[in-house]
Amino acid sequence: MLINFLKNFFKSKNQKTLEKINITLNIINDMAVKFSKFSDKKLKEYTFKYRNEVFNGVSLDMILPKAYSLVIEASKRILGIKHFNVQIIGGIVLHNSCIAEMKTGEGKTLTSTLPIYLNALSCRGVHVVTMNDYLAKRDYNQNKKLFNFLGVSVGLNLPEMDLNKKKKSYLEDITYGTNNEFCFDYLRDNMIFCMDQKVQRNLNYAIIDEVDSILIDEARTPLVMSGSLSADKKLYNQINNLVSNFILEENSFLQNCDSEKTFCIDEKRKQAYFTEVGFIKLEKIFVERNFFKKNYSLYSSKNIIFFQYATNALKAHTLFFKNKDYIVKNKKILIVDEHTGRVSKGRRWSDGLHQAIEAKENIEINNENYTLASITFQNYFRLYKKISGMTGTAATESEEFKSIYNLDTVSIPTNKSIVRKDLPDLIYMTEKEKIKAIIEDIKSCVKRKQPVLVGTISIEKSEFISKKLQQLNIKHKVLNAKFHDKEAEIVKMAGALGSVTIATNMAGRGTDIMLGGDFNSLLKYYKSSKLKFNYKKIFNLWEKNRKFVLNSGGLHIIGTERHESRRIDNQLKGRAGRQGDVGSSRFYISMEDYLLRIFLPDNMINIIKSLGLKKNKSINNIFVSNAIQNSQKKLENYNYEIRARLLEYDDIINEQRTIFYEKRNKILRDNKVDKIIFEISKEIFKSIVNMYFVDSRQYNKKNIKMLKKYVEKFFKIKFSRNFFCFKKKTFHNKRVISFIVKVLENRYKRKKYYLKKNNFNKFEKILVLKILDLFWREHLYDLEHLKNSIFLRGYAEKDPKQEYKKESFLMFMKMIWSIKHEIVSLISLFSYEKCSFEYFIYTLDEFYNNKFFLKTSFFEFIKYKKSKKF
Ligand code: ADP
Ligand code: MG
Repeated sequence: MLINFLKNFFKSKNQKTLEKINITLNIINDMAVKFSKFSDKKLKEYTFKYRNEVFNGVSLDMILPKAYSLVIEASKRILGIKHFNVQIIGGIVLHNSCIAEMKTGEGKTLTSTLPIYLNALSCRGVHVVTMNDYLAKRDYNQNKKLFNFLGVSVGLNLPEMDLNKKKKSYLEDITYGTNNEFCFDYLRDNMIFCMDQKVQRNLNYAIIDEVDSILIDEARTPLVMSGSLSADKKLYNQINNLVSNFILEENSFLQNCDSEKTFCIDEKRKQAYFTEVGFIKLEKIFVERNFFKKNYSLYSSKNIIFFQYATNALKAHTLFFKNKDYIVKNKKILIVDEHTGRVSKGRRWSDGLHQAIEAKENIEINNENYTLASITFQNYFRLYKKISGMTGTAATESEEFKSIYNLDTVSIPTNKSIVRKDLPDLIYMTEKEKIKAIIEDIKSCVKRKQPVLVGTISIEKSEFISKKLQQLNIKHKVLNAKFHDKEAEIVKMAGALGSVTIATNMAGRGTDIMLGGDFNSLLKYYKSSKLKFNYKKIFNLWEKNRKFVLNSGGLHIIGTERHESRRIDNQLKGRAGRQGDVGSSRFYISMEDYLLRIFLPDNMINIIKSLGLKKNKSINNIFVSNAIQNSQKKLENYNYEIRARLLEYDDIINEQRTIFYEKRNKILRDNKVDKIIFEISKEIFKSIVNMYFVDSRQYNKKNIKMLKKYVEKFFKIKFSRNFFCFKKKTFHNKRVISFIVKVLENRYKRKKYYLKKNNFNKFEKILVLKILDLFWREHLYDLEHLKNSIFLRGYAEKDPKQEYKKESFLMFMKMIWSIKHEIVSLISLFSYEKCSFEYFIYTLDEFYNNKFFLKTSFFEFIKYKKSKKF
């Protein structure tokens, strides 16, 4: 008894979980027998029955056993396959918000049908998330028949779909799609202008396939929706020529004569500007070249744009140097980071400077990109009420799944035991020797006609090996995870007789590799070719090949290098030996591999050498393999920290995003926003008046004059001459505020009266939403800047994260205030006699896109645009 107790005590958590599930498994199997006796018609009636039960408050957990048995019986009839016991266990794990670790080929697509059906009974939506469109379509098509038979509806969500189609697929009980598309739709849903454009419902339950790839590998970079501002390419080039000549002339001129400078440069701050003399000269040239007429100043608001372009061109020519501040590669300007000296991929200088440098280097001028919205996958999937995931490889990252997503990982045993031989690593001194050995291994497989899959860590490495094989005339296929459909077709055949396939670790993930090749692909090939088609003959041929492959040792996996994490190595190995097939795997390592160079302690290299590692000789040693595993663990930790840090920062934005989206959604749902606008007006005027008159001592002429000017400028409200003839005792902030609000209210009513109520309501709503979006966009831009510069605070012994939190909060509050101010200001300045709603809204975008250049008020901008002079 004591022994039993101890045995139980030391059982792993995984084992205990599985044992508990076993009880339910038996119940399900018993019930499935009962269902097998029912007619199709009777089976179908059960969905309706279960739905009613859910509707009346019975929990999904209670319904689980019968619902699962129903699906098992339906699958037998419709798909012709019966769920294995391990698949039923997987299905239960998935319903319990956990990650089911099930090896490749165990049939996770079929496994998922169980929790998908059960959770679809609640009618709140189930999202099935896959890595790419190809897999989404494949799984949707495969399971559609089953779900339709059972009376639950299924939809597919693809990027090319229009709004109505998307809406429809989101309204179905089940929706298949990719993580990117679900996430984009969420962001887009928070940028719309009326409710009927919204496509998603509340996020209920998501099952994520290949969950480690989506929640770990892809979680390193946030998903960004970006827009692009079109640059006036001609103007950039014209002004570049003009300014470069101007600088040339000035430089030679200055050497000869002690004239006044036309421009100044501040190298430290990377600033350049024209002096008064330079400005006048520039203005003259602009007039000569017909940029604008003689009597107009360069300072006037419609010409200021030329001045901004010119200043950027001046900076480009005097402060930014090729091969120091940037390099030119493939006709692109790449910024060199001043701290690290490395190229900062994807970064561009903002506000027109990047384009000015492109003009200087005479390469194509690109548009300015800006972020419209962004979110990390971590924060997107946290929005669901419940999530769960499945993959062949999760256990090594179970801690991360727990701490970030609160997901437990349960490893599920395989249906048949694994007989794949994982051969010990072979370790070489140099990369060259290693590659030679790999090629020899491939050659010996080809000789035996054993299929071989070679996994690499990058596209370059794949291509390198491919080149070597070409030289030897060895036929092979190369994949690199770019064209999912095509690649799946090729990967399917990686187990065919004598096939050689080279792939990066991502390529073809999710596609089953059958030994002897995929029979259906073979059929398709014969059907489409001109060869004589005979089903039986083809089947016999396939079977013969399959036997041959099994005898040759099954699929052989070659790892050309250990990956950044053990998980990805396991993923590669797992491509062989599915469902009890024979197979083998071998990893090749050299002392020059990135992982060893960077993460193996120095003394280890000497130890390894002392173990007998010599030129042209390999060793396989468990001690060395363990040391390499430890390096991988170190790297796994390091990458985990990067992801955790990204999340820490995104969490801060996430709080703001949640508040912002809530406010925006409230406005979106409201049909009338006038109440909100009045509240905002009161709040804005209160704070403005209180700013000028902190207490009664400040009731003086100067302050009153300033307030009048301010209110007139931003809100077009004029005070009567004697309004401020007050005795100090009777004067009060409240009186001023109520006066302003009253004026505004009256004016507002008048506008509304003239502009038919409904139209005005619609206009107001769009205006408010637009302002929200434009300011949010600017806020995101500022936050990105803040994030990039905040690490400098570390030098001042301040905690950058705390500083970021503090500062971003202040920025957020400021944004909210500015939004309110802008809304009230634009509504009070809007004059229906001068421009239509549509024109007003349309121009708003353009104005904000060019705000940096314009330095003018919105209404002046409209005026100029209307006179077509701009
Ligand atoms: P995984 O995603 O786990 O790698 P898949 O879902 O792609 O595996 O399934 C691999 C193959 O196994 C598919 O061809 C599928 O039809 C088949 N399969 C899955 N479950 C069963 C089953 N219970 N009986 C027979 N074949 C199955
Ligand atoms: Mg799969």
